[in-house]
Amino acid sequence: MGEFDLIARYFTRPARRAALGVGDDCALLQPRPGHQLAISSDMLVAGCHFFPDVDPRALGHKSLAVNLSDLAACGAQPLAFTLALALPEVNEPWLAAFADGLLALADAHGCELVGGDTTAGPLNICITVFGEVPAPGGRSQALLRSGAHAGDDIYVSGTLGDARLALDALLGKADLPADVLAQARQRLEQPTPRVTLGLALRGIASAAIDVSDGLLGDLGHILECSGIGATVNVDSASSLIAASACSTGARGQFSINLSEVQRRLLTLCGGDDYELLFTAPTAMRSAVAAAAQTAHTPVTRIGQIDAAPGLRLMDHQGQAVPNTYASFDHFA
Ligand code: ADP
Ligand code: MG
Repeated sequence: MGEFDLIARYFTRPARRAALGVGDDCALLQPRPGHQLAISSDMLVAGCHFFPDVDPRALGHKSLAVNLSDLAACGAQPLAFTLALALPEVNEPWLAAFADGLLALADAHGCELVGGDTTAGPLNICITVFGEVPAPGGRSQALLRSGAHAGDDIYVSGTLGDARLALDALLGKADLPADVLAQARQRLEQPTPRVTLGLALRGIASAAIDVSDGLLGDLGHILECSGIGATVNVDSASSLIAASACSTGARGQFSINLSEVQRRLLTLCGGDDYELLFTAPTAMRSAVAAAAQTAHTPVTRIGQIDAAPGLRLMDHQGQAVPNTYASFDHFA
């Protein structure tokens, strides 16, 4: 099977909202009047971002999910995406399953595949997504990293740390019962992009980012871009791991015994969570709760923005906790 047959069979579908989809030199998109395009790219490299033998359906899902997560963090409505693919060989069952996982998530969000590039080479997947944000009178409603103010609450959606727990187990660094590994692995390999929550937070959140490299590291980007500091309750954050029996309330979905140190490490600097981390004025607490309900996505308040620069950690007793937590950096 040649390059063009492969594109035609697995990656060509009739254009829907796009003015022109796959098949010409460019795709054409028509943003609605009064809207801006939100654009983001993410690359997934075999052996670096995923195990080369990972289930191709899950890989298709995750490749788009991590990109949709960036749109979610900006409060953008997904429109379309392009797919640049390097493949070591044409393996049709692999391609069929990859396309299936990818396009199922695309359809769930009404996000069309409008073009891309296909080449031979080490397995590499690069997606660019296009979304839409209202900008009435040129005033963008996009959620940015730079909008947090002193006094704002800090929230995070969903659960934290389970993806990293699964990664540690798959790398042989942690020993997990099979049922716990299966559920944690779901979080690692098939994350749920928080698109609906991002949309519901427009006009409510003051700043937002998605958690891809670890909670504290990604919070650091908000602090830097907004020129402020923060205090985080590490016990609130570390209770958000689903895998631990120690988790509080509804989030403790499956149970193994993790020490406090392990739970803090996994949740504060685990990475690959694809949850939304956002800030909002305290006057917006009920609006945040309503947005979470609309989006069927739990959110938890984990701290406060301070005027003083820097990140301070404390526990439930209000005792200071030393910050020894580093987030993921590909070149560190
Ligand atoms: P060009 O050489 O002009 O860049 P290509 O021959 O690479 O175009 O691709 C032909 C058409 O197929 C283009 O419309 C391109 O966007 C589309 N395409 C190529 N690879 C993919 C892919 N993996 N997924 C979706 N569309 C693709
Ligand atoms: Mg090309």
